[in-house]
Amino acid sequence: MARQLLIAGNWKMNGKRDSLAFFDEVAPAAGASAAEILICPPATLLAAAVDAASGASIKIGGQDCHANSSGAHTGDVSADMLVDAGADYVILGHSERRSDHGESSASVAEKAAAALSAGLTPIICVGESEAERRDGRAEAVVAEQVVNSLPKATDGAYVIAYEPVWAIGTGLTASLEDIQAMHGFIRGRLPDGEKTRILYGGSVKPGNAAEIFALADVDGGLIGGASLKASDFAQIIKNTAV
Ligand code: PEP
Repeated sequence: MARQLLIAGNWKMNGKRDSLAFFDEVAPAAGASAAEILICPPATLLAAAVDAASGASIKIGGQDCHANSSGAHTGDVSADMLVDAGADYVILGHSERRSDHGESSASVAEKAAAALSAGLTPIICVGESEAERRDGRAEAVVAEQVVNSLPKATDGAYVIAYEPVWAIGTGLTASLEDIQAMHGFIRGRLPDGEKTRILYGGSVKPGNAAEIFALADVDGGLIGGASLKASDFAQIIKNTAV
């Protein structure tokens, strides 16, 4: 079955209100694309980004959520709150959260279940480190992350993002052969593999997006650095017109 391409931008801890002009600049490319377009701004900008993106064929997502829907968890944001702000998606288990906040795959699975029950689509991130790839353990590490990060006993569609840690923000990208091989490997380990979208992330830019997204088992991208500049993000959308 055909899986709709998803082109998602992750602004990480970047962006203030003056960044919202981005949505007007990207709107024409987003409106002309058959792909689903998503921006995940910092939590402070969520509601304003939803307003700025209204009518622009651009969806908004969070970058994390707590597994509980409310309570004494200072500094955290729940999936219900993201929905209340107008979000449709949430990124979970990004390698920066796994390393900065010690997030385990088990906690990612709990957050993913909470996101699905709140009505969000989780984007569950997995990926090996440089040392793990060098040691020939990339597939084993990614398989372990996929199996343990999936929501348990919950119906609903989720997205997987394969992001080799060594390719994030470094300007290095995995080879096309390695990307296709890992995406095919991941698809084979998913309960609903043929229906599940698998994004690639790791230094995607206007010059390489089209060839990466054209791979058989790549269903779009999770884009960090190149999503901060409206012209680059719009160019990625245009270059991958389907
Ligand atoms: C990311 O943040 O998920 C990412 C892939 O970053 P970059 O595109 O900058 O490598």
